[in-house]
Amino acid sequence: MRQHWVIGNWKMNGGLAANQTLLAGVRAAAGPAAPVRLGVCAPFPYLLQCQQALDGSGVVWGAQDLSAEIGGAFTGEVCGAMLTDFDCGIVIVGHSERRLYHGESEVRVAEKALRAVENGIRPVFCIGETQDQHDAGETEAVLARQLMPLFALLNETRLAMVIVAYEPVWAIGTGKTPTPEDAQAVHRFIRARLADHSAALAEALPVIYGGSVKSGNAASLFAQPDIDGGLIGGASLDAGEFLAIAKAA
Ligand code: PGA
Repeated sequence: MRQHWVIGNWKMNGGLAANQTLLAGVRAAAGPAAPVRLGVCAPFPYLLQCQQALDGSGVVWGAQDLSAEIGGAFTGEVCGAMLTDFDCGIVIVGHSERRLYHGESEVRVAEKALRAVENGIRPVFCIGETQDQHDAGETEAVLARQLMPLFALLNETRLAMVIVAYEPVWAIGTGKTPTPEDAQAVHRFIRARLADHSAALAEALPVIYGGSVKSGNAASLFAQPDIDGGLIGGASLDAGEFLAIAKAA
């Protein structure tokens, strides 16, 4: 049975006071015996706060990006070793907002995944097609292309640490979602590409869905056999809503 994950992506939201309430709510509801792994990805300045609030709770925390460099003269960047100083267990790489606003290439995103793994952090590797690509029937080609550098850079042992997040760009923050059946078909395609590489990997890797997940649609999405939980943006900013989504997983 594959591990299911529900991971909050706070994006550039929050503040010390609001985070404290949110983290306390997440912590209170996350029992050690929970069948679903919970994760929170916060802005860099709040990683220490996450560490202090979530330590020992079973909830995993992490960042929303990391540098592809190891360290040195890269002003404004944060490297994997810095994230391990705050016990980050996960880090989002290749979110479509990074690819779009920061020009992150497919190879660069895979390099970031490699850096994460080298530091013992599980990369949440985001892939997804835009509305135009979706409308043009290019979804599978786009996803296959986005996965390729990951397979090129990470050996099988390293790949085993990856969590894949399928996030159709047109569904992020829009209130639109694919039907559960359509999402399942895409997840099955992703798992088949993993299987091309290694059957054991395809069996073991969590492939989670992101894009306008709410408590009202989570259960039908997560009930699909190849959807192993979700990456949650807006709805992760409310502890009650986030935990209702986690319950559905
Ligand atoms: P959303 O964002 O849940 O607000 O659509 C998901 C994401 O961008 O990870």
